[in-house]
Amino acid sequence: MRRASLKILGLFGLFWLLFSCSQKAEEYVIEPMEPRKPMVDFGFNFDDFNVHFDTIRSQDTFERILKKQNLNGRKPAEIIAKVKDSFPTSVRFMKPYICLRSKDKYHKLQYLIYQPNKIDYYLVDLTDSIVGYKKSRPLTFKVRTIAGKLDGSLSTTLRGMKVDPSLSNKLLKVYAWSIDFFKLKKGDRFAVSFTERYINDTIYDGVDSLRCAFFEYKGDKIYAFPFQQERKGRTDYYDENGKALKNFFLKAPLKYIHITSRFSKSRFHPVQLRWKAHNGTDYAAPTGTPIMTTASGVVEQAGYTAGNGNFVKVKHDRTYATQYLHMSRILVRRGQRVKQGDVIGKVGSTGLATGPHVCYRFWKNGVQVDPLRIQLPNAQPMEGRNLPRFKEQMRPLKRELDSVAQVVFKGR
Ligand SMILES: [Zn+2]
Repeated sequence: MRRASLKILGLFGLFWLLFSCSQKAEEYVIEPMEPRKPMVDFGFNFDDFNVHFDTIRSQDTFERILKKQNLNGRKPAEIIAKVKDSFPTSVRFMKPYICLRSKDKYHKLQYLIYQPNKIDYYLVDLTDSIVGYKKSRPLTFKVRTIAGKLDGSLSTTLRGMKVDPSLSNKLLKVYAWSIDFFKLKKGDRFAVSFTERYINDTIYDGVDSLRCAFFEYKGDKIYAFPFQQERKGRTDYYDENGKALKNFFLKAPLKYIHITSRFSKSRFHPVQLRWKAHNGTDYAAPTGTPIMTTASGVVEQAGYTAGNGNFVKVKHDRTYATQYLHMSRILVRRGQRVKQGDVIGKVGSTGLATGPHVCYRFWKNGVQVDPLRIQLPNAQPMEGRNLPRFKEQMRPLKRELDSVAQVVFKGR
């Protein structure tokens, strides 16, 4: 009786397990089982050998690895001397190596393959005379074009589409000036074309480059196409009309922005407790957050005043200058050249400030203006003579993006 009830309990447990598993199964894609193929790599069929995979341990040397093998009288030192011109002098910790040994009872070492990185490898052939080779596995590039709707952040969405998350960093960089990714909503559409790297045509090695993309943002499709204005020059991204996506100015002096007070003619000053104009934009951030110069230029001032606290002013050209206040630390000197995005100081609350933030001030022709309201210049406008060449390169890419998007979004 007791036994029976235990059985029932066990059965119940089994059902519960199966049931709870089947509920979870929806989240995963189950890959179909394929019949096992012979493993071919580095030009060898591994089925022909007794194969031993290992990694370099601490204090391993080429000699020590050889000493662990049954070398049938051949001295490791002799092998090293023979391959010294085609084998590295030292092996690197944690890197893989493979011993291909005979399948007979002697398990004699026939080939040794050492892989310092995913592409290059060294091969020692001990089958006849002792020969060493340095080789590379062939790289292939495959184009992939995808379209989808945002579901969570861009990187989460791409992960869901089984795309290497490094692609989202590439996209964030390209669109840093034209799209505020925090404002994109669930369901916003996008399409991206990119190349993926494969080693030996089969081993996935990540996203190589971004070919083109579009994002739907505030009702517009914002395209990005790479283009070099000068042969072998810098690659910049442009929309379908040849307008540069990159601006002369970054949108903000901080990477992750939280605006606490905008430029205004009249606001109640939190420290002075009176109404006055606020000629800047306040971005709150923890003390120590890096502050970037929003455009390249020369540091015009770097110092301290009672109101501004530690501050830096950068002159960009004859028209524009920017200023950054309340720093906990200044990291540049007067007269220093700075490039867009360079860290020039750290967020603090020095001077008249209630908490850590950076007050960002913007001058155009000597007058303080609100950078969030004025039209800002592009970094490197397309030169007219380059436009026909750009359009010729852009058209087939755009057609590809649009046609993939059309198929994916059909009826959705
Ligand atoms: Zn301010």
